[in-house]
Amino acid sequence: MSVESPLFQISEPGETRAKDACPVSPAVGIDLGTTNSLLAWVQGGRPVCLADADEGTPMLPSVVSYAPGGGSLPPGSEPGVVVGRAAQRRALDFPQDTIASVKRFMGRSADDAETRRLGTYRFAAESGPVVRFGVAGREVTPVEVSAEILRALKARGEKVLGPLTRAIITVPAYFDDAQRQATKDAGRLAGLEVLRLVNEPTAAALAYGLDKGSQGTFAVYDLGGGTFDISILKLVEGVFEVKAVGGDSQLGGDDFDRALANLALEPLGVDPSDSKQVRRLLDAARAAKEALTGSETTSLSVNGRDHRLTRAELEAAIRPLVEKTGVAVRRALKDAGVTPAEVDGVILVGGSTRVPYVRRYVQELFGKEPLSDIDPDEVVALGAAVQADLLTNESARQDVLLLDVAPLSLGLETMGGLVEKVIARNSTVPTSATQTFTTYADGQTALDVHVVQGERELVADCRSLARFVLRGIPPLPAGLARIDITFKVDQDGLLSVTAKEQLTGVSQTVQVKPSHGLTDDEVERMLLSSYEHAEADIHLRNVIDQRVEASRILQAAEKQLAENGDLLEASERDVIGASMSALREKSKGDDANAIKEAIDALDHASSEFAKRVMERGIQRAMGGHSVTQIESEIAAHHDRIGG
Ligand code: ADP
Ligand code: MG
Repeated sequence: MSVESPLFQISEPGETRAKDACPVSPAVGIDLGTTNSLLAWVQGGRPVCLADADEGTPMLPSVVSYAPGGGSLPPGSEPGVVVGRAAQRRALDFPQDTIASVKRFMGRSADDAETRRLGTYRFAAESGPVVRFGVAGREVTPVEVSAEILRALKARGEKVLGPLTRAIITVPAYFDDAQRQATKDAGRLAGLEVLRLVNEPTAAALAYGLDKGSQGTFAVYDLGGGTFDISILKLVEGVFEVKAVGGDSQLGGDDFDRALANLALEPLGVDPSDSKQVRRLLDAARAAKEALTGSETTSLSVNGRDHRLTRAELEAAIRPLVEKTGVAVRRALKDAGVTPAEVDGVILVGGSTRVPYVRRYVQELFGKEPLSDIDPDEVVALGAAVQADLLTNESARQDVLLLDVAPLSLGLETMGGLVEKVIARNSTVPTSATQTFTTYADGQTALDVHVVQGERELVADCRSLARFVLRGIPPLPAGLARIDITFKVDQDGLLSVTAKEQLTGVSQTVQVKPSHGLTDDEVERMLLSSYEHAEADIHLRNVIDQRVEASRILQAAEKQLAENGDLLEASERDVIGASMSALREKSKGDDANAIKEAIDALDHASSEFAKRVMERGIQRAMGGHSVTQIESEIAAHHDRIGG
């Protein structure tokens, strides 16, 4: 995984420090969420979220509305910009000038299919490397929109803390380089030095780790407005290690809203093609959903009409969505090599984990009641504040490491377009692994090293990362050369690949950026498709393996027939020839077993021939000496050394 800097240091569990007011302004923690954003800092050794004086809540809706001469503005922002609840209110009347869920557009190009899918907005540019929204007669990029949210949070903090200049910002575990870079740019644009980007589930665990003095294996289940993240973490003797990450970048409370809105669409007579009406319905559905967290029934009202809803109806509607999280959880547990029973605690993160059905589901999934001592809305920002404090506060203990993992497997292309995985998905980084490969053809002096990333068995289904050629391999018979290929992933998630021929020491190294250009959806899609295609892939892999083996055996047989054919009677030659044509025929088909049988048949048909060829080879090697003669010479040699 490409992470800003995956080695985080946290203090010993249970440790709190008495600390007086900071002489300089503190570094703050910011949860820049798809739906809501929060700012937190450490006060007297404890992290706290900063509530807005007027709104009374620390949650700032991640909504930015552009208007000529709009409402009260945070200092430093562009004129005519409102952020938060005021922006949310404007969304109804100015849907295209009001940007919500901008996080989904971060690091994406205008051409991205995902961008098109999400677009209810005006896009100023039809194509290009960055998305540009056309709002209130101007153009803004997602980075600029996010910067407005950060500015609003910064202004809120400065009222209490004085000038703020440094921050930790959290990002989803799946964010790739482009998305992380965009987040950092937004911070810089808002006048903040971004000390580090921290994964959201990691931040949540930091908040719990410090407060609860926990040891053991933890799962962080984060269901927000638009994304689901699952992380498996291990705390051992003060070392905090991320064992596996997974999730679904298109699953969250917004989907619950849509499911509920669908139930009410017809009864309320909402025209699905009227975007204003649909937006009203979705807002009402969200309110109804949140109301059903505390009460058994509620009513959803739009167009002056009411539709009664029960919690049971909500639960039935969201059930398939919630069950999708279970698939990701089971996969992450499997990757981490732990059973649900071995998980010591489940941390709930995100507003959607307030839904009672979600809590019940998580409890059933893990067979234990999830932890919810810390507000699931605040826990990420609180953890970010803890991290900010640790990085900037000298007196903070810094002896705990937090390791990250590689999100997708890294491997090499082998004969037949197959992938040989060298570093498995979810391996803890930094890591390195070496595998030995050999040549396919006789006298082969160069090796085409093709580095790929992904879970599928075929190169064509994985992402190509780099290609290079190792030259200067001594010409040897096929299969004799030994080439060590080493994959090394460093702390920053950067991959380097070295190929080295053992005999000559000839070597070559390339630096690769493993997740460059991979969007979270691509990662998701690749994971998902490996899961869906696992069976078909294994079948195809078998077929290709058998074909490669068949072609190797046929080549060897042809070579032996040409060199030692005189050892065979004509009838014997015919039998072998027939087996060879049968194998050639079978390897054109898709039946791995049939190819394997044909290989075995040729093996059997030529076993006598192979024996004769070997005898001839031994005779030649010994220059006419008998085997026993050689053996006694060797024994004598050993005696001399031993004596
Ligand atoms: P994000 O991480 O995407 O910014 P949040 O963690 O803030 O999202 O979660 C926002 C989601 O949580 C929204 O879909 C919101 O409707 C939902 N939510 C918040 N409070 C409740 C509640 N009491 N009951 C049900 N859902 C809630
Ligand atoms: Mg969140």
